[in-house]
Amino acid sequence: MTTAEAPSHLRENPFELAKAQLRRVGEVFAIDPNLIGVLSQCKKGVEVSIPVSMDDGSINVFLGYRVTHNIARGPSKGGIRYHPDVTQDEVKALAMWMTWKCALMGLPFGGAKGGVICDPKHLSRGELERLTRRYTSEIINDIGPERDIPAPDVGTDGRVMAWIFDTYSMNKGHSVLGVVTGKPLSVGGSLGRVEATARGAMYTIQAMAQKQDKRVDEYTVVIQGFGNVGAHLARLIHGQGAKVVAVSDSRGGVYNPKGIDVPAALAHKQEAGTLEGLANAEAVTNEELVELPCEILAPCALEQVITERNADRVKASVICEGANGPVTPTADHVLEDRGVLVLPDVLANAGGVVVSYFEWVQGLQEYFWREEEVNAKLHDISVRAFEETWLTRERQATSMRMAAYGLAVQRVAEATTTRGLYP
Ligand code: GLU
Repeated sequence: MTTAEAPSHLRENPFELAKAQLRRVGEVFAIDPNLIGVLSQCKKGVEVSIPVSMDDGSINVFLGYRVTHNIARGPSKGGIRYHPDVTQDEVKALAMWMTWKCALMGLPFGGAKGGVICDPKHLSRGELERLTRRYTSEIINDIGPERDIPAPDVGTDGRVMAWIFDTYSMNKGHSVLGVVTGKPLSVGGSLGRVEATARGAMYTIQAMAQKQDKRVDEYTVVIQGFGNVGAHLARLIHGQGAKVVAVSDSRGGVYNPKGIDVPAALAHKQEAGTLEGLANAEAVTNEELVELPCEILAPCALEQVITERNADRVKASVICEGANGPVTPTADHVLEDRGVLVLPDVLANAGGVVVSYFEWVQGLQEYFWREEEVNAKLHDISVRAFEETWLTRERQATSMRMAAYGLAVQRVAEATTTRGLYP
């Protein structure tokens, strides 16, 4: 563990954790150590400086990254994160996880991730636009529909994607729809993309419920994070009749053992910009929220929220990883020993990149699908990946995480071997 490099919300270096996970997968699935050695490194990474004219007349220089982990199965794919704690090693870990996620879902993509060290909550719209356009122009030769395709992640949204799309297109002299996904509908986005990550998580929960001979409305759910993933998951799962007893955003959470009024929470967040002060609910901290009694705990915010420090106090019997990397490997062991079922990130939050794939295909064909079509195709892919993971878990007598990562790494390893090492 190199704490010196670990950003403030992370106690352990995420890239070291991702590499340790990969080594473990190599052992469990008897994958050639030479290949594991190749897959342990990121293919390419750029670090760029992003000078931005601020509204007060000063110039701030931000630092940005774009990392491609692997392209054996196709162009690299992955979001761009705007957050004050971003580090290069975090971006590398997230890029590696994207490779596994795309392979597990059977998408013709490799993995990538980008990040800019900034606090988008404290930037004006103009500052955010100038930062995004300059960042895009700094990485313009590294991205493209056949090369590397960004998307939203923590701190970025459709607006940011529209600026990336426009900056890239203006430089090419024509609209290039396939350069970025998660775009607004007016500029070639896909129906269903905004809520796709949450919808994929819900399909995964439904598939798991079937295995447990239960219905979704029999579960009590706690959701950490009320951004794109958490808020939509709360809405969708509430719509399925599940009892959502607690939700939180970065400032803290709200809890009612009888059930949160989810539509009221969504409206309150929309109006007040926070969940604080929601009626008929008591305030809890994000740390307390993780330990609340419930059946399903869905961490949908950042990495490393369930660690060796609190894993033994988690009451949930199922953890649905809406975020990337919310459970550390040490916590994984504790949870596994306690019989807690972890639906891993590369499976549970893959709905976003699956519909990103649909958006990319629609953009390349300039032919757009109905929302029901998008959702039905997402359902098929999510359920297939769940069933394959479940079967592998049973065959190997291992965890869902190991099964998912194992399937994914084997697919990437196979593509690498079939192509052969160049030159
Ligand atoms: N940032 C999302 C993820 O972590 C979406 C990536 C994408 O759509 O390319 O999966």
